[in-house]
Formats: sequence, C-alpha cells, structure tokens
Amino acid sequence: MQIVWRNEPDMAEYEAARWRRVFNQRRPERFPRAVVRATCQADVIAAVQLAIKLQVKVAVRSGGHSFEVWSVQDDSILIDLGDYKGVEIRPAEGTLTATPSTTSKEINELLAVHGMFFPSGHCPDVGLGGFLLQGGMGWNCANWGWGSEFVEGLDIVTAQGTPLYCDSQQHSDLYWAARGAGPSFPGLVTRFHLRAMPSRRIWSSGYIFPAALYRTAFTWALSLELDADTEITAKAYYQESQLCFSVFLTTFEGTPGGAAKLLTRLHASRPRGTLVEWCCQPETLDSLYESQARSNPQGHRYATDNGLMGNEVDVVSILAEPFLSLPHPKSLAFWTSMQPWSRRRLPDMALSLQADHYFAIYTVWEDEADDDRCRAWLKQAMRPVEGACIGAYLGDSEFANRMSHYWDPKSTVHLRQVRQAWDPEGRIAGGFPNGTDRSVCRDEMGAHHHQHPLLVGVPVDGNKQNDYSE
Ligand SMILES: Cc1cc2nc3c(=O)[nH]c(=O)nc-3n(C[C@H](O)[C@H](O)[C@H](O)COP(=O)(O)OP(=O)(O)OC[C@H]3O[C@@H](n4cnc5c(N)ncnc54)[C@H](O)[C@@H]3O)c2cc1C
Repeated sequence: MQIVWRNEPDMAEYEAARWRRVFNQRRPERFPRAVVRATCQADVIAAVQLAIKLQVKVAVRSGGHSFEVWSVQDDSILIDLGDYKGVEIRPAEGTLTATPSTTSKEINELLAVHGMFFPSGHCPDVGLGGFLLQGGMGWNCANWGWGSEFVEGLDIVTAQGTPLYCDSQQHSDLYWAARGAGPSFPGLVTRFHLRAMPSRRIWSSGYIFPAALYRTAFTWALSLELDADTEITAKAYYQESQLCFSVFLTTFEGTPGGAAKLLTRLHASRPRGTLVEWCCQPETLDSLYESQARSNPQGHRYATDNGLMGNEVDVVSILAEPFLSLPHPKSLAFWTSMQPWSRRRLPDMALSLQADHYFAIYTVWEDEADDDRCRAWLKQAMRPVEGACIGAYLGDSEFANRMSHYWDPKSTVHLRQVRQAWDPEGRIAGGFPNGTDRSVCRDEMGAHHHQHPLLVGVPVDGNKQNDYSE
C-alpha cells in the first residue's frame, strides 16, 4: 500500500496524488492528510484503520468523475482505488464482478468478448463506483432501468474497517442504501456483483437544427412514439460557433430489422430545416463513447446542475432560456426522456425519485477568469427550472451550486437511519464537507446551507405516478 503524506517534502508527488484522474479542472481548495493507493481490499481495510487511528475521515475515489470532486476532502485519508482493478465474468450465468474503478468503457470492452453488455455511464471514463452508488443513468435507462437495478450484491469495507458482503438477504439495509445513496453511502465498496445483458447491434439517427428551430424540433422530439430499445436525447450546444439544438435517437436493436423500421418511420416525420441529419447509421459502443468524449472534453472547467422535471410540465417553454443562452461555446445542456421507466414502481432501494423528464446543464469553459461568470449563469439558468422539478439526480449535482431533493421523504429518513447505524461517527466523508448528518454544509463560496440534504424531508410534489406507500 503506497501512502503519500501532505507534509512530505515532495509537494509535487502529493499534488499528483491529490488530483490523479480527477476530471474537473475546477478544483476545490481541500487538502487530504494523505492519499493511499489501494490495490486490494486489504489496503482499503488498512487505510480505514489508519484513519481511525489518526481520528480523521476517509474519502474515496473510483473513477474521479464527480463534478464536485467529492473525493478530495479536508483532513481525510483519500483512498484512491485507481490501481485496484479486477473484473470476473461468468458468461454462463450472465453475471460479473467488478472493482469500482473499472470504467464504463473498460467493462464493456471486456464483456463484448463474451457477447455481453452492461448499461454503464455514457461517458467512457466514469467509474462504476460513483456511477452505481448514485443510481446510474446508463445506456437506455428509460427502458432498462437504473444501473443500480443491475447490482446483485456488494463487497464492502465498513467505517470500522470490517469487510462484509451485502445483498437482499445479508445486511440488506446496506444493499438498499448502495443503490442510490451516492456519496452518502456509509461504507466503501470494493467489488460490485452485477447482472449483465446480451450485447446488441446499435443504430443511431441524428437531427441537428439551428437554434431558431428549437421549439419545432423539441416539440417533435416529445411527440415521438419510441420502442423499448430506443433512447432519445435532445441537446443544445455550439457547432462551429453556431448554437444548435439536436435530437439524437440511439437504438439497441432487440429484434432483427426492428431498428431500421422504427428509425425510418420516425425519420419520415422530422420537421424541415436540419443543418445535418442522418438516419439509421450503424454504431458501436466505441463510436458512441468517442462522441460522448468529444462533447465532454477533458482538461476543462465544469459546473453542473440538473433536475428531474414533473410529468405535466411544459418542458419546451421552461427549458428555452437555459437551452438557448449557453454561456460558452464548450457548454451544453441536454434533456432525455425517462419514460416509460418513470411510470413504473422502482425496487426498494435508496434511489426513489422518478420523473418523465431529465434535464442537465454541463457548463464547460477553459479559463479560470471565467469561473464567476459561468457559475452565475448556471444559477440564473436553473432558476426557472427549479420550480418545475421534483428533485435532482446526484450524478450531475454539485451541492455547492444548489441543494435539491435527492430521495423521496421516506427514503431520506431511512437513509439517515442506515448512516447512523453503520457510520455513527461520520468517518466516511462522502460528499458532505463537514461529514455527519447533524453538521451544516459549507460550500466553496463560504455560504452555509442550514438544511443538510439528509435532513430535508419535504413532500415531493408533482410526481403523481409514484406511490411511496408500502
Ligand atoms: C463527463 C461526465 C459524464 C457523465 N455521464 C454520466 C452518465 O451518463 N450517467 C450517469 O449516471 N452519470 C454520469 N456522470 C456522473 C457520474 O456518474 C458521477 O459523477 C459519478 O460520481 C462518477 O463516479 P466516479 O467513480 O467516476 O467518481 P469519483 O469522483 O471517484 O467518486 C464520486 C464519489 O462517489 C463515492 N464513491 C465512489 N466510489 C466509491 C466506493 N468504491 N465506495 C464508496 N463510495 C464511493 C464517493 O463519495 C466519491 O467521492 C458523468 C460525469 C462526467 C464527468
């Protein structure tokens, strides 16, 4: 187990360890006491024991893609799982076991050899750790469900440094929390036991409109009748300095010929005026990952926010302002339909908010001097959206930008109980700068949030399709 201490003479080594694989270049002024590079579960246990001995917190990094850089916490032992890699595939059972630093792309490259597929994150380098703990909005989520619904069990190390296995039978409260608690999970996952799917052929259609056709294009996208194999996304972004509004359809073909039939029918109904369009183009996961990596470039500064928008809201009108006023040519905003999954009852897990519409803004820029302007724009752009939301998805959230509701009221209370039972001392730093449920969160700007998200238990309005009673 390699440890790099903050007070060692070689600051460069500490800085490299502090930021290793961290995606967002806009980085917090927080300083872990030490960074441990773990290569096995025993290292994770030893790191937790060290934190207990030093009476500091533990933070963890799997893929380093948290926008708020939750893995970097003051006065903590940061456990970097980047060198702890291992995937075991069981083709006959359609299952696999993977360590949390395994990325979306890595897992699917290994599974493809066996004709298998896992609906991991759209970005190639997102780690399974953060992705699955938050719920996981993976490929075709609206039809196949959340990534965490594919989690059958987990190996974890508790806040006391004890290894244990949890699933629906053993330590089921931890299994419940591991599927949606995100950075509030009171343990450290060392292995996920997952269910996979058979791999499929992939096809896409794309319609890039000038921003002036936003209303026509978005209204068309909302009217489309899709099948269970197809994911729809609408996105505003700059293409060659022109603001565009695009509609993308990605079909993971379930029946031979089904994709061509569907995509050709939808193509016939498209509004006129596209700048670029294609219909039923063959894709591979590699080509999809490449296109995601292009639109979410590395080496940039990011600020994000998002909302799960009530089923009945007029998304076209409400989202016009944020979609059409992006502050920088690298920034983007997207909508995706969560139907029909949003209308189904979820399994009993921490992830508990569902809505028909998901909207997220990735404010992207290059220059630190632009930080205040871009962050102020994000706050302003989300203002009209907030009132139409039932809550937010942890994956694209930054508490420093805005607090929202991340679970339904019943799950919020239950999660607090699970945290209290498994990590009463608040050893695991997670995403909360000051740790325990009783604390007040302080954001980077120095403002205080007197309502910790785990203490917010307000009724969730507008999510009429979900029944939270037992
Ligand atoms: C470019 C980009 C694209 C994205 N696309 C998607 C997408 O398509 N779908 C989606 O759902 N999300 C997406 N996200 C959001 C992403 O899933 C979350 O930011 C997630 O937290 C990243 O996981 P990570 O392991 O890479 O991050 P990390 O920064 O390593 O982890 C984030 C936090 O999760 C917790 N955590 C991580 N691993 C463990 C562990 N082993 N045990 C306990 N706690 C742990 C910790 O609190 C940690 O600080 C995207 C993010 C980026 C930057």
